[in-house]
This record gives sequence, C-alpha cells and structure tokens, in this order.
Amino acid sequence: MAAKGKLRTRDKLVAIGVSSDCNCALCNQGTKDCHHLFFRCPFSKMVCHGLMQWLGIRSSGIERVYTQWKKWGRNHGSKRRQKIGYATLAAVVYEVWRARNSVVWNLKVPCREAAVRRIQRTVCSMVQHQVTSKWSREDIEWLEKLATEAN
Ligand SMILES: [Zn+2]
Repeated sequence: MAAKGKLRTRDKLVAIGVSSDCNCALCNQGTKDCHHLFFRCPFSKMVCHGLMQWLGIRSSGIERVYTQWKKWGRNHGSKRRQKIGYATLAAVVYEVWRARNSVVWNLKVPCREAAVRRIQRTVCSMVQHQVTSKWSREDIEWLEKLATEAN
C-alpha cells in the first residue's frame, strides 16, 4: 500500500481541507508525502534502524532498506527468517502510519523507542505461535534471542 503511494497522506488531507499544515506530522520538517514518511522521516529511520539492528540486518541508507530487507532472508539461508523479516517490515509500515495518525488526530507525538518495542513484541508473539517441530534448532534459538531482546 505504501509503495503504491495510495495512502491518504497529509497533502491529500490538505486538498480535501482536513489539514492545512504541509510539514510532516512526525518530524515537523520535510513534506508529508508517502516517500518522506516511509523513507526520509527521522522517525521512520530511527524505528527502521532499531529493528534492523535487532534482526541483524546491515543497513546502508533508508531508501534501500526495503530491497535489503527482501534479500536479507535469502542471504541468511533461512526462509523462516525472511518471513520474520517481512512480518517486521509490515509492522514498521503499520506503526509509522499509526504514529503519524496519532499526531494528526490526537496531537500526541509517539516515542520512537516505544514504537520499536511494540513492533518487536508484536512480531515475536505472532511468530512464536507459528513455531512447529519442523523448525530448525538455529531458527528457534534465533527467535528466542529476539524475544529476549524485546523484553
Ligand atoms: Zn517526517
């Protein structure tokens, strides 16, 4: 959804008269379009980098995050880890959108660290329910490590 630029961002709200502010709600700089919100906004960057570190994805520039993220599971040679990566990425998009709404509608700026923690816990509890006897010991241990760091 974010990739297709179909989100109702502030510029669209401006167009329909809901918002008159042209700055990004989360950082109060830049523009409010999808590209800024998901790639350039300091809020998104911080949340993304926190989670990349958590997963052990090496990062170089936020623009390439999505590509790196996609390839990352393959490089680790584990489909499950790739799936966990995707789940985390989806949670990032959701959380950034939620944070932005929180500012626009409730005038509350969310804490970045809290957003990272919330994503970590969501992903862990989601994935832990999917663990079966088919999982390799390495993947289970990896997930346990992630869960420990999320607490
Ligand atoms: Zn911003």
